[in-house]
Amino acid sequence: MKTLEKASFKKAFIKKVEEVSGEDFSESTAQHQYEALSELVMEEITAEWAVNNSRLHKMEEKQIYFFSIEFLIGRLLKAYINNLGWDDVVPEVLCELGLDYEAIQAKEHDPALGNGGLGRLMACFLDSTAAMGFPGHGNGIRYKFGLFEQKIINNEQVEVADNWLKNGYPFEIAKPDKSVIVKYKGNVRTEMVNGKLVFIHENYEPVLAVPYDVPVQGYHNKTVNSLRLWSAQPVEDFDLSTFNQGHFLKAMQRRSEAEAISQILYPNDNGFEGKQLRLKQEYFFVCAGLKRIVRRYKKFNHGSMDGFSDKICIHINDTHPALCVPELMRILIDEENYEWDKAWDMTVKSISFTNHTVLPEALEKWPIDMVKELLPRVYQIIEEINRRFVNDMNWFYPDQEARNYSISILKDGHVHMAHLAIIGSHSVNGVAELHSKILREETFKDFYAVFPERFHSVTNGVTPRRFLMGSNPQLKTLLNETIGDSWTMPNKLSSLEALLPYAADAAFCEKLGAVKRRNKAHLAAYINKSQGIQLNPDSIFDIQVKRIHEYKRQLLNALHIMYLYNTLKAYPNMDFVPKTYIFAGKAAPSYYYAKEVIRLINVIADKVNNDTTVNDRLKVVFVPNFNVSVAEMIYPAAEISEQISTAGKEASGTGNMKFMMNGAITLGTMDGANVEIAEAVGMDNIFTFGLSDVEVANYNAHGGYRSLDIYESDPRIQEVLEQLINGFFSNTSTFQSIYDSLLIHNDTYFVLKDFASYADIHSASSAVYRDQKKMAANVGCQYCTLRNVLK
Ligand SMILES: *Cc1c(COP(=O)(O)O)cnc(C)c1O
Repeated sequence: MKTLEKASFKKAFIKKVEEVSGEDFSESTAQHQYEALSELVMEEITAEWAVNNSRLHKMEEKQIYFFSIEFLIGRLLKAYINNLGWDDVVPEVLCELGLDYEAIQAKEHDPALGNGGLGRLMACFLDSTAAMGFPGHGNGIRYKFGLFEQKIINNEQVEVADNWLKNGYPFEIAKPDKSVIVKYKGNVRTEMVNGKLVFIHENYEPVLAVPYDVPVQGYHNKTVNSLRLWSAQPVEDFDLSTFNQGHFLKAMQRRSEAEAISQILYPNDNGFEGKQLRLKQEYFFVCAGLKRIVRRYKKFNHGSMDGFSDKICIHINDTHPALCVPELMRILIDEENYEWDKAWDMTVKSISFTNHTVLPEALEKWPIDMVKELLPRVYQIIEEINRRFVNDMNWFYPDQEARNYSISILKDGHVHMAHLAIIGSHSVNGVAELHSKILREETFKDFYAVFPERFHSVTNGVTPRRFLMGSNPQLKTLLNETIGDSWTMPNKLSSLEALLPYAADAAFCEKLGAVKRRNKAHLAAYINKSQGIQLNPDSIFDIQVKRIHEYKRQLLNALHIMYLYNTLKAYPNMDFVPKTYIFAGKAAPSYYYAKEVIRLINVIADKVNNDTTVNDRLKVVFVPNFNVSVAEMIYPAAEISEQISTAGKEASGTGNMKFMMNGAITLGTMDGANVEIAEAVGMDNIFTFGLSDVEVANYNAHGGYRSLDIYESDPRIQEVLEQLINGFFSNTSTFQSIYDSLLIHNDTYFVLKDFASYADIHSASSAVYRDQKKMAANVGCQYCTLRNVLK
């Protein structure tokens, strides 16, 4: 990596700004400066990219391809600059020129091509893979509109279209020459050719898939991998013959039907929506991605597919790309003339699968008729995979007929995508120890009985380059001054353990506290500017930011704040450590209940923040439009990290890790990767509460929980629940559906059951929060999240 020379960079930058603006440098705007800086960065990266791609063509190493319907990559300009090692020179030069680096970065529209943790995990995997110098690439969809932008109007979520490509995107290269055709619908005709049955897919509707590549830059190394995102376009620019025959609308319709496929990201997180367009999307990037991979492999291998599975890993991120299994079989059988058994062997060897959730409502199952109509040949192959699988099972386990049916791909009129993924993969993993245990013992126990060797656990991780070094530069500097910078190198995060002795070092703890104080002030300034709410940076910043979902229990947090407010009103002179509660997160637009929770939080915030008898000690903020760049500002400012899902429901969580590496203390249930965090920091450095996953599972299996019992015995709960429906917090509206869910529908997520222990652990946390040693221990005991995902 050549170092950037200051004077020549300054000159190049000024020249580039004048090129993009067509005006004298002194006239340029932040937008011009952003475009110029992006171009300079891309020029540097693309040179290495070309070298890297030719290395890839030679297939010297095994290649891994991450197939995912979401890649939540976040802003790239600063990440590229840091990874190139330009982070000393660039800010300095901009400063000398009197420019504002942060304002320039803010011109980049944060690409929101994912909903939450699942899409963010892929972005972190790509970052990690490149940082470690491995050849790994992403394959997904270039949505024209990403996840909606969230505004809060009259305390409610309002969704605004995310037109992120409006001003162009400087970090992609379109490769129309590498476009491929994806075929939908039509029929399959069979024919005997030279004594062999062949399958001909005809009368199909073709769609053009055009790839756009985004470089994935390694950290201080020469690796540049690719994220390939596919855009859907009509095969002919315009259907002129139809148009000339006078069928104007029909010609237009074909065009928009094709474009619709990559028009917009479905905004559901952990929820399945069985729309045909979604199934089209799933096949779209699977078919296009596999086609290019196969072509490239054959080019390297003199036209043969032999050895494919020794050189190519296809990793499917949750079940959305599970059609990789039948599609690869289709290619091997119909196009490459392999026999079934050989093709199956190659397919299973190539494919591995990460499961992301055990929530039953999120498990994908497509109506057989829909799959058959949309993908006739692929469906035939699914049917044959299923027929052979069920035959094998009945042969080996003749006395297990019920189980053999329960694990089949086709049942109850549906294609069960997780079953297809497990049967077609050599490796299946959960994303934290507890989640993997639940997969083995509950969700997929019948599969585990048959394929025990396939099941693994790979705890999620996050990139410290973005979520520590990039987002918390002050902490990075302090750590470097204290223990050196070996921890910044890829896969060396565990070097942070060298900090442990400093937990007892008063001078270090003071500096650590000063860093936190500055990050809090920075977030407070942003909130003041954007929302007009003044925060006290000397209060505890207690933060819950993530998708709004019943199982994540933002409601528990909100009810507890209502209780604190009631207590402060009742005992104005009580001893109370000032607290600032910060929330952020989007709800799926069709998820009424989650949107009610957002409204409740905002209503509470209005009441509390405007009550001068308490608002010097209690503040509540809902930060709108949670996305990666907002996240990067929030995590470093936290002292308490709220990770309070109902035990057994959160597969891993990654927000918990990002908070932790910025020195926040986890306050949470023993769920997902909170368990690994507890192990790493020790029970003295985490606040845990609530039912265990086993207790939750027992109540769900055998009953025995009655939320009314809790209500009747706890006056704190009675008071806040009455306030939900009596107009106390907002005299214009009530929260009947929330009230009903807790009392009439018996509180599915055990909010009331866990309330008392949650309140207890909060008061315990207030008592010790000023103890900076605990924060030091948290940074030091960092759970080493960057495991080698390729091992
Ligand atoms: C990390 C992250 C998430 C996942 O958060 P969890 O707390 O694990 O649910 C979601 N959205 C964004 C923008 C993130 O950065």
